[in-house]
Amino acid sequence: MSRVYNFSAGPAMLPEPVLEQVREELLDWRGTGMSVMEMSHRGKAFVAIAEEAEAELRALAGIPEHYEVLFLQGGASLQFAMVPLNLLRGKGKADYVNTGSWSTKAIKEARRFCEVNVAASSEASRFTTIPPQAEWRLDPDAAYVHYTPNETIGGVEFHWVPDTGDVPLVADMSSTILSRPLEVERFGLIYAGAQKNIGPAGLTLVIVREDLVGHAGPGVPSMLDYRTHAEAGSMANTPPTFAWYVAGLVFKWIRDQGGLAAMAERNRRKAEKLYAFIDGSDFYHNPVDPACRSWMNVPFTLARPELDGAFLEGAAEAGLSTLKGHRSVGGMRASLYNAMPEAGVDALIDYMAEFERRHG
Ligand SMILES: *Cc1c(COP(=O)(O)O)cnc(C)c1O
Repeated sequence: MSRVYNFSAGPAMLPEPVLEQVREELLDWRGTGMSVMEMSHRGKAFVAIAEEAEAELRALAGIPEHYEVLFLQGGASLQFAMVPLNLLRGKGKADYVNTGSWSTKAIKEARRFCEVNVAASSEASRFTTIPPQAEWRLDPDAAYVHYTPNETIGGVEFHWVPDTGDVPLVADMSSTILSRPLEVERFGLIYAGAQKNIGPAGLTLVIVREDLVGHAGPGVPSMLDYRTHAEAGSMANTPPTFAWYVAGLVFKWIRDQGGLAAMAERNRRKAEKLYAFIDGSDFYHNPVDPACRSWMNVPFTLARPELDGAFLEGAAEAGLSTLKGHRSVGGMRASLYNAMPEAGVDALIDYMAEFERRHG
């Protein structure tokens, strides 16, 4: 067996100790004689797994009692609809900040349900910057303000949390959650698909302030109503049990690493190392304003794009996998989520330097 450094944007690399524990427990979870995959979600064993995962997450991220933690399905993409369906509370309009592909998708979906005010957009800079809050035109009557703290495709990240006063702040944290400490109380709602920094695909995490639950309109399907899931402990129907279990192991692994502050320090170091290398080279280029470069997703291009294929082939031979950029932007993208060890970034930089020596 040989494992590669997997730079995929999602589904992404998982911590090796977590995979090893999964393998260890796969056929017989702690003497139950069955796999977690085969357990009733209402049985004692799985209920304990589920509760422990939630408790770990609450401790890790400092989630206060008056926030619900929901383990849902449908991906972050379903939250693009569930957020307006639940949070409009009769208001009919919401503010959105557009910083790239994922915000654009969230806006498009929200427009099916309400009037969207694009309070700020970095489209004019081809989404390589983040508009400072002083330039945002927020509507005081908006039901909520939605933004994307990390744009997975453009590699643009907020290194600050917007201040929206009494208007609830909603964040699509799919590709940055748990990468650094989280001030949950600054947010009305946080959502994230699990497959980047939490665990396997199929699980979507929603952290929502209690008072924002229970306002879905009459036509909203019950399975799209946060209240249904909050009241049922995320077991209104069969939840993604295996993904939930693995997420719990990942939360424990993060705690063993020293928690979110330690993750942040490591993530910053990894990203800074790679950006410093790119900036010091005439062969590689990252287009993003240094003040808002992502710690999680680092897009870069080669001075000679005709060498993209050779670059990827050589990388794969060196055990560096899935560096191809998103189909909408081309070039390369290295995703450096929590599970990517520093040695993986070092190996990538060594390979890039060697490739430049041969072709630059
Ligand atoms: C990956 C991603 C999504 C889409 O997630 P799905 O779980 O596939 O729906 C949405 N927003 C961001 C920021 C993402 O990175």
